[in-house]
Amino acid sequence: ARLFAGAMRLFLRWCRLCPRRSRSKLLKRPRELWSYGRLILRSLYFNSLTNSDVIMDSLFEPVYWLVDHLTRWFGVVFVFLVVVLTSSVLLIIYLSLLPLALTTYSLPWIVWHIVYGHWNLVMIVFHYYKATRTSPGYPPQIKHDIPSVSVCKKCITPKPARTHHCSICNRCILKMDHHCPWLNNCVGHFNHRYFFSFCLFMTMGCVYCSISCRNMFFDAYSAIERMKSLDSERHGVAVTEVGLIFSILPLGFVSGQTYYQTPPPPFTFRERMFHKSIIYLWVLTSSVALALGGLTLWHAVLISRGETSIERHINRKEARRLEKRHKVFRNPFNYGRMNNWKLFFGVEKKSHWLTRVLLPSGHSPYGDGLTWDYAPYRNSLVSI
Ligand SMILES: [Zn+2]
Ligand SMILES: [Zn+2]
Repeated sequence: ARLFAGAMRLFLRWCRLCPRRSRSKLLKRPRELWSYGRLILRSLYFNSLTNSDVIMDSLFEPVYWLVDHLTRWFGVVFVFLVVVLTSSVLLIIYLSLLPLALTTYSLPWIVWHIVYGHWNLVMIVFHYYKATRTSPGYPPQIKHDIPSVSVCKKCITPKPARTHHCSICNRCILKMDHHCPWLNNCVGHFNHRYFFSFCLFMTMGCVYCSISCRNMFFDAYSAIERMKSLDSERHGVAVTEVGLIFSILPLGFVSGQTYYQTPPPPFTFRERMFHKSIIYLWVLTSSVALALGGLTLWHAVLISRGETSIERHINRKEARRLEKRHKVFRNPFNYGRMNNWKLFFGVEKKSHWLTRVLLPSGHSPYGDGLTWDYAPYRNSLVSI
């Protein structure tokens, strides 16, 4: 009996101990495994540079990829669109407007339109061709001694000052301004002037067309309205309320003219096409003048300040950062408004304003785009 009691006591103790041991073992094991697994995973992905920006960038990587590919594809479509729309405007001008101007305008006006129109056209075509075909400039891929400000994370090469990586071109661009889908090219150090001149002369051309054609547009517009009312009269259209009123009123009353007996001859196909093309021309050139005019003005402001579109953002951030420290930010590439413009257009003497700005010129920009002279300031960082 004593032996049995001893055995029972031993069994009971084992029973009491066993589940505790096994439970703790069972609980300990996955916890250990979990923390061990996490440690391995963390060590695999560990990066001392990781912050919320990097994580957000990684999450948005597929979106960037899609946008980059779409922009690359749209680049071709946009260039095609620019060529087709410009050609359509030229076709209308040469086929309908020029013959009309030659027969109705006085000689000084004819000379003005022919000279100005063709000069503007040459400037647009030259700068567009140059902007699309000129390489914006890339930093050398081989090892070099050029002073660099950082290293490109994508190209793994040193980045000279003002150089930025274009994800659409998948390259670093010297003095990058932006990637332009309308050119299907990056705007950088070597084609910045061509891009701006194209915008400027295209805006000027559109404003010129819009102003020259405004009276014709109003005439064409009223003619189209008259056509519509005549058509509805002829076909007895009484679908809309306006149509109903028109069909009740006498013809002469509707078109606001003083004929009662003989209706006007119907518009010929040629006349209809002419009026419609005038309306198309005016609406297109006016809207492009407004949109492109705004863009050109914005770029003119940036050039005056000696900034690129990308630097505008960087400099604003930097200015805000320094302001908190009671310091004033100075753009090191701002050489003064007039000097900025001279540098931008490559004007070295007065005659260059004519030969290099107002006439097509293929001169290369000032500097190599790799090294930059910093604007001299007497006190670069002034405490307020
Ligand atoms: Zn790069
Ligand atoms: Zn690009």
